[in-house]
Amino acid sequence: MKKRLFFYTTYIIFLGLLSFFVASVYITYTNNLNIAKNMIMEITQICAEFYNENTDISSFVKVGNDTRITVISSEGTVLADSRPLDINAAENRLDRPEIRAAASGSPETYSRYSETLGVDLLYYALKVNVGDSYVFIRASIPVTKIEIFLNRSLPPFIFLISLFALLCFIFIRATVNRIVEQFGSIERILRSLSGGEYKPEPIPESYEEINKITREIDDISFILQSSFDALRDEKTKLHYILNNISDGLFVVNGDKDIELINTAALGIFNVTPDITEKNLNYLVYDKMLTDAVEECVTLLKSTLFELTLNGRIYLVTVKRLPDTELTMVVLSDVTENRENAKRREEFFANASHELKTPLTAIKGFNELTEINNRDENLGKYIESISRETERMLTLIGDMLKISELENTKDIKPVPVSLSKVANETRDILSTVINEKSIIFEVTGDAVVEAEQHHIYELVKNIAENAVRYNNQGGKVLIAIEENRKAVCLTVSDDGIGISPEEQTRIFERFYRVEKSRSLRNGGTGLGLSIVKHICALYGWKLSLKSKLGLGTEVTVLFSDN
Ligand code: ADP
Repeated sequence: MKKRLFFYTTYIIFLGLLSFFVASVYITYTNNLNIAKNMIMEITQICAEFYNENTDISSFVKVGNDTRITVISSEGTVLADSRPLDINAAENRLDRPEIRAAASGSPETYSRYSETLGVDLLYYALKVNVGDSYVFIRASIPVTKIEIFLNRSLPPFIFLISLFALLCFIFIRATVNRIVEQFGSIERILRSLSGGEYKPEPIPESYEEINKITREIDDISFILQSSFDALRDEKTKLHYILNNISDGLFVVNGDKDIELINTAALGIFNVTPDITEKNLNYLVYDKMLTDAVEECVTLLKSTLFELTLNGRIYLVTVKRLPDTELTMVVLSDVTENRENAKRREEFFANASHELKTPLTAIKGFNELTEINNRDENLGKYIESISRETERMLTLIGDMLKISELENTKDIKPVPVSLSKVANETRDILSTVINEKSIIFEVTGDAVVEAEQHHIYELVKNIAENAVRYNNQGGKVLIAIEENRKAVCLTVSDDGIGISPEEQTRIFERFYRVEKSRSLRNGGTGLGLSIVKHICALYGWKLSLKSKLGLGTEVTVLFSDN
């Protein structure tokens, strides 16, 4: 850059000076020529006016130092000359252009080289009448030739141009050095920035415009470096977090090459960190996992599934990262959870079984005591024992139903009419329906494929709640609808309703919004949990809509997708 700047600047200045020189030489030369032309015309005019046969031509010598006056006869011979020594009098002058021009009545100046004097001469002639004849009065003066003019001007020009060139060279060098030094500092700053290690340094000042730019660059560099630092910190934190979480995580790009893998995932797949940038096939052979990643990469399909690897159970999430080509796979080890859940289920089932037998015995003994009792006071206690054992047996019955549903592997479905089940449920609940003067309606019908007792359990639990948590004189409607896609059963009531916060929890085991009310109505807190288990077993969709104080609507969509 430095060289080029020197070269172009010097070249342009040299061209400028040369053009200026040529133009000045030309203009001065033309001016001189014009002055000489005017002068010679005036001198000739004056001589012509004063000329007559008696004029002493030698007196014209005084007209001007360099001026020469010649009188030429109409035949072309020289009659008189202010410098007689220089001429050949006999030579005919009629063919000279200035004489011909004067003869034709349109006198004009002409210049030509004079062999005798060795210079360019400017000629002008006028035709002057003398008596019956005429003569030509011709004047001539020497003019400097343009080459000579140039030759004379060239040495001072070369001197001046050299002086200018030297001054320009010194000035440009100083200027360019200052700018180059400034850019050098900027370059070093930018290089340090691109190397990731911003090193601020004082930037030398030059011209205000460039100073402004360099200050801007310096400010931007500082901001960029701050952003880099913040990003680097974030990256370090992210790496720390990623490598310290218990979940395995890896990310693949559109070609299924591994972009990132954390420590936990390295352990799960038993690989070393150099697996990064290699293809997914080097990491895992499991078809289920590779297929899920393939579907996510090509079809953007997210999946969640369980996978057993080296004797451990993992919950695998395959997900596309938004606005990128990247697919993320997270493996959460759920082996302990699954084992704990299994243990809980076993305990739940065993405890229910173990409690059922003695409770049934207590119930039997209590009935015997009731039959043989003659004491009126004892009768109250016997009644309490009977009520509480009944409640406990119902609870144990519900607990057993849940554990049975959890352990059901094979289902033997038969066609079941939903309206038949709904009407029979109404009959079962008739006592409480009548007590509360509830209007209970069943509309529509459809047949679903399921084990019969599951459908009874499902409809009974939902409808029982609709009646239990209803007001005196309330309404319950079981609507059964069927279209080409699915069968739908909706149980709606205009009872007490459920608040939005409670709606997500009521499907949990033993969860009751109002425990006293549930107990009073004979609830165990397991009804909706049983409903949820049945739906999960068949893949049916269960949903609930409710408004506090207005009523509840529970819907089961009998389709397995
Ligand atoms: P419970 O045996 O106590 O009825 P469920 O599992 O059937 O247990 O229901 C859980 C809780 O959800 C109930 O205690 C009740 O508070 C609330 N609930 C269920 N259905 C309704 C309904 N139709 N209207 C109002 N509350 C309801």
